[in-house]
Amino acid sequence: MKLLEDKIRMNGKVLPGGVLKVDSFLNHQIDVSLVDALGKEFYDRFSLYNINKILTIESSGIALACAAARYFGVPVVFAKKGAHKNVGGNVYSCPCFSFTKGVTCDITVSKDYLCEGDKVLIIDDFLANGAAAECLMNILRQAGAELAGIGIAIEKGFQPGGKKLRESGINVQSLAIIESMTDSEVTFRTDD
Ligand code: 5GP
Repeated sequence: MKLLEDKIRMNGKVLPGGVLKVDSFLNHQIDVSLVDALGKEFYDRFSLYNINKILTIESSGIALACAAARYFGVPVVFAKKGAHKNVGGNVYSCPCFSFTKGVTCDITVSKDYLCEGDKVLIIDDFLANGAAAECLMNILRQAGAELAGIGIAIEKGFQPGGKKLRESGINVQSLAIIESMTDSEVTFRTDD
């Protein structure tokens, strides 16, 4: 999606360790018009799948998920990281390794908000090794809910997550796929 690629070229910052910083428009300050356009694009790509819920993970996926949810007319559920007293014990949970923080923590979703029969679109800001997506899929399996697909804003195509998920038959739609990145240049995959 050209709008997102241009924004990354203009405002993204490449950090050591293969991390792209997009704090100026997605991860700290939010460009609401851009995020709304990304939400509409997710809707255009998944509107035929009878989705009744969007699942994401706090915190950076929430804005994107909400933007998409307005087009689908469905609620957003976000997985919480770490132990949360206010979620209570009635939860699905899964340990998740954070690529950016280098630590594993449990993510939890209350059983009140996901159940058998739900048809769910997973949305997240980044796809790298696929740990976050695998974890959210694990939670869907615990709930007996059905995965409709995965919508990602920025996939780092030089990391294996996207390939692994697609090879297992999952419909992964990434709005920008980075082929390679250096301090001075970000190159996008052009074949989708
Ligand atoms: P994965 O679990 O696929 O390895 O990584 C995806 C998760 O890690 C996303 O939820 C995202 O928050 C974070 N992440 C992975 N790579 C990057 C990156 O290059 N930049 C930022 N800002 N977050 C990333």
